[in-house]
Amino acid sequence: MTANDLLAESRNIWFPVVLRLDNTTKTLVIGGGEVAANKVSLLLATDTRVVVISPTLCGELERLLKSGRLEHIATQASREVLEAHLPGARLVYAATSDRAVNHLAAELAQKMNIPVCAVDDPDPSSFITPAIVRRGPVMVAISTSGAAPVLARRIRERIETLLPAGISRLSRFMQNARGKMAQIHPSPDTRRRVWENFLDGKGAEQALAGDETGASATLDRLASDEKGGGEVWLVGAGPGDADLLTLKALRLMQNADSVLYDHLLPPDILDRVRRDAERIFVGKQKSNHALPQPSINDELIRRAKAGERVLRLKGGDPFIFGRGGEEIEALMEAGVPFRVVPGISAANGCAASSGIPLTHRDCAQSCLFLTGHARADGTLDLPWHTIALRGQTVVIYMGLGGIASLCEQLITHGLPPTWPAAVIEKGTQPGQRVITADLTSLPRLTVEQDFRSPALIIVGEVVKHRVVSPEI
Ligand code: SAH
Repeated sequence: MTANDLLAESRNIWFPVVLRLDNTTKTLVIGGGEVAANKVSLLLATDTRVVVISPTLCGELERLLKSGRLEHIATQASREVLEAHLPGARLVYAATSDRAVNHLAAELAQKMNIPVCAVDDPDPSSFITPAIVRRGPVMVAISTSGAAPVLARRIRERIETLLPAGISRLSRFMQNARGKMAQIHPSPDTRRRVWENFLDGKGAEQALAGDETGASATLDRLASDEKGGGEVWLVGAGPGDADLLTLKALRLMQNADSVLYDHLLPPDILDRVRRDAERIFVGKQKSNHALPQPSINDELIRRAKAGERVLRLKGGDPFIFGRGGEEIEALMEAGVPFRVVPGISAANGCAASSGIPLTHRDCAQSCLFLTGHARADGTLDLPWHTIALRGQTVVIYMGLGGIASLCEQLITHGLPPTWPAAVIEKGTQPGQRVITADLTSLPRLTVEQDFRSPALIIVGEVVKHRVVSPEI
């Protein structure tokens, strides 16, 4: 069986661990060429004793030998030599240019239960070495399980650019302060919260920049204020496609202690919230409020005051028909700190995913966002004379239930019965459906095709400019 067959058959046989290589350990490297030298230089970042078996050494290994950083056994790696030197090794690299020698070394090491890597040859190996990005104690290892080393290197380049050089200082600072923090706050939950506040605030900036005194002062302040740090993040989760979350939304989702969410959010998005965060469904389905707005506000305040980092996750954008304004007013009154993170609103998401430009210079100079949420008696009280206008796109949220009355009013107030209009159901999500028609036929078509919420109505000549990309 070739290495490729093996990989294809059992892609999940590799498992990442971080190994301790301190000065009580010995690592055996078999081979004296450049490939061996690469492995040796990786190993020399640790404290392990490096022993190289090879009749000759390349320039780099000679240099390392002279500086006393490795031991050299100047002989061929025969069965006897290997059997003599393998015992007691923590790791073995078989890095000669002779496959047979590498295989022999691997076979003997495996028999002795010593992890062995035959370089560029996963088949006889029991471990493979990932590409590594290292900043002091922070390490990121990238592996394609031996399938595509070039791809692994490419990913490493990306990660290199993502990790600031100062992250090593930051992690050492945090390491040094761990003992003190454990004394002040024996509860791991409280400690996590203090550290998260530290990382989110100026403390991390100070430590990254090497200002240890400043960072210590910031940490002390956060640590003494145990109940402090509670706040509410009002975050827009976009129209449903998890790829449309902002980076900031994702970051806060990963750091929250609890999340209050409503019915518009697909599981795919909720799955990205920190696994240990408490999840509270607050409903908001039309005429089925799981929690009335004042209770939601109270819950946000109560949790923040108890020191929680509360995520109020909302579909679309929190300030577009999301009652975000009411929530921050309540928070403000209660003196609870908050942050607002915008999200892609349904209008933007649905327009993009259905190919309808919301403004098009030929036909729309303005775009109006409208709520079509009817009053309890089913009527819509809207300023129709500013809505039923040519040269304007009207986007109607929560309008599906009242679509017949909406279209009728638009015609009554001056738009032609043939005026273009569209409905997008589950915009940006799998199973999205779109109807394009006109004001006369649209209500009937949505009933015939059983359109359900969430659905967005777009009215205006821009619907005629709908363009759907050819299959890529
Ligand atoms: N704050 C949200 C809107 C909340 S009101 C935002 O900015 O998008 C809820 C209404 O938004 C729904 O009734 C529907 O009209 C619209 N909506 C939200 N997500 C949608 C989606 N994926 N597809 C179509 N309409 C959607």
